[in-house]
Amino acid sequence: MNTNIITIDGPTSSGKNSVGFLLSQKLGYQYIDTGMIYRVGTYLVLKQNINLNDVLQITGIFKDLNLEIKKSNGGLIILNNGADLTSQLHSKEVTDAVSKVAAYKEVREVTKLIQRKLGVLENTVMTGRDIGSEIFPEAKHKFYLTADVKVRAKRRFDQLVKLDSTVQYEDVLNSMIERDKKDSIREVSPLRIPEGAVVIDNTSLNIEQTVSEVLKHIHV
Ligand code: C5P
Repeated sequence: MNTNIITIDGPTSSGKNSVGFLLSQKLGYQYIDTGMIYRVGTYLVLKQNINLNDVLQITGIFKDLNLEIKKSNGGLIILNNGADLTSQLHSKEVTDAVSKVAAYKEVREVTKLIQRKLGVLENTVMTGRDIGSEIFPEAKHKFYLTADVKVRAKRRFDQLVKLDSTVQYEDVLNSMIERDKKDSIREVSPLRIPEGAVVIDNTSLNIEQTVSEVLKHIHV
């Protein structure tokens, strides 16, 4: 591998995406949020009314993906066949279905190829659930971010309530506990601390402080 890869894994709202983005800006690297890949595939599965138990058709959707992930206006956008699907990815329907779709071994085999292809092109910060353990186990710099689940739920609640004032904190907390559980107990590539990863608990750190912590361990 000729490019530098920095992997950041962790549970929902552990700050990995904001940290990944800011870190990539500071280092001049591209940034890939792999959750977006699972979300785009899940969005298309739902749009085409495919049964969530139909692993063959679901895998077909992922095989047909033709993705571009790029920075735009201080965030990431994701295009499939040139169409920007970014605004579709955080609906309740996609969020509720994505962990089931992402648990299929066949889906993960296809997404692994997509992620490897994206990461070998240029220096990259890549965030997800299994990047340091399964996708780029050979990466020199691996991180695992975590924080207290109540703090993580509050972070997600603060984002969601801006879009929908009826959102309840308790519901966000319960759905987060459920998704963490699904991601951690699944048979294939469960969320875990990758071998050799630096663990950072950012319960009481903001994004800038977490990035500073990460940078202390990076020598490029
Ligand atoms: O990070 P984000 O919340 O957008 O990820 C959505 C879901 O996609 C996760 O809950 C998980 O089920 C799945 N995912 C995964 N492996 C990754 C990234 C995301 O299984 N590398």
